[in-house]
Amino acid sequence: PSITRGVTTEVPKVSWEDIGGLKDLKKKLQQAVEWPIKHSAAFARMGISPIRGVLLHGPPGCSKTTLAKAAANAAQASFFSLRYHCAIFSYLVKCGAELYSMYVGEGEALLRNTFQRARLAAPSIIFFDEADVVAAKRGGTSSNSTTVGERLLSTLLTEMDGLEHSKGILVLAATNRPHAIDAALMRPGRFDLVLYVPPPDLEARYEILGVHTRKMKISNDVDLRRIAEDSELFTGAELEGLCREAGIVALRENISATVVCNHHFQTVKEALKPALTRAEVG
Ligand code: ATP
Repeated sequence: PSITRGVTTEVPKVSWEDIGGLKDLKKKLQQAVEWPIKHSAAFARMGISPIRGVLLHGPPGCSKTTLAKAAANAAQASFFSLRYHCAIFSYLVKCGAELYSMYVGEGEALLRNTFQRARLAAPSIIFFDEADVVAAKRGGTSSNSTTVGERLLSTLLTEMDGLEHSKGILVLAATNRPHAIDAALMRPGRFDLVLYVPPPDLEARYEILGVHTRKMKISNDVDLRRIAEDSELFTGAELEGLCREAGIVALRENISATVVCNHHFQTVKEALKPALTRAEVG
């Protein structure tokens, strides 16, 4: 079976307005992603070479993937997502070379093929979720898995260096474990911009609740600011889940319901425990 098929290239429909909070971060991404594509002549005039790679790091469920999609949408760039392939790589690396021999060279072929397709479709964004798998530090504990990881890493390094001669291609990578990324990727011309995507603060939580209730009819007794205050440590993904579940509770109560009320939100909230701890949030 080939794992080199099926790299998704959908044009993401997500926009900056679909992401609550993170105002400064969105601006930085906008400059790094949109400007070199939309204003490439200005970059050439000023003799500035655009950033080739951006690393987004932070806890799960806090919008790293969504930010990458919104950036691609804003720049009208093709979006080559290796989200699912990274999960497969992760499995292969864990299993070591024995199983990997079945797929010898497929991981590297996938990377080369994706960069090639991205060059043809430029402007393009190549997105790696779980980047620490493809870009893992060399010299791990198991010699087998190191070999597998090293081959992926060295292909990625070669391809990223090759971007010097290509216009309109950016690599966006996301990880929850930035320290596991090999230092070679942090050298100039590779991941030049490293952005921390934090868990949402109060204002961001309020905005996220606003985003995920936009299409919902909510009753006047729902106070989103109050819910935001009571949901410290909740990630964006958990707040999205809270809104969806509140809608489901309303329907469970009455399948003909048209509005979601405060008690629906409260029922769900009481049953939810945030995955993040205070120590992680800092
Ligand atoms: P992981 O590390 O697990 O891949 P992630 O940081 O990439 O997570 P996303 O996949 O972007 O997170 O977000 C998960 C879900 O949570 C998405 O459906 C997204 O809509 C929602 N979400 C997270 N943060 C926000 C936010 N700031 N505003 C609106 N929705 C958000």
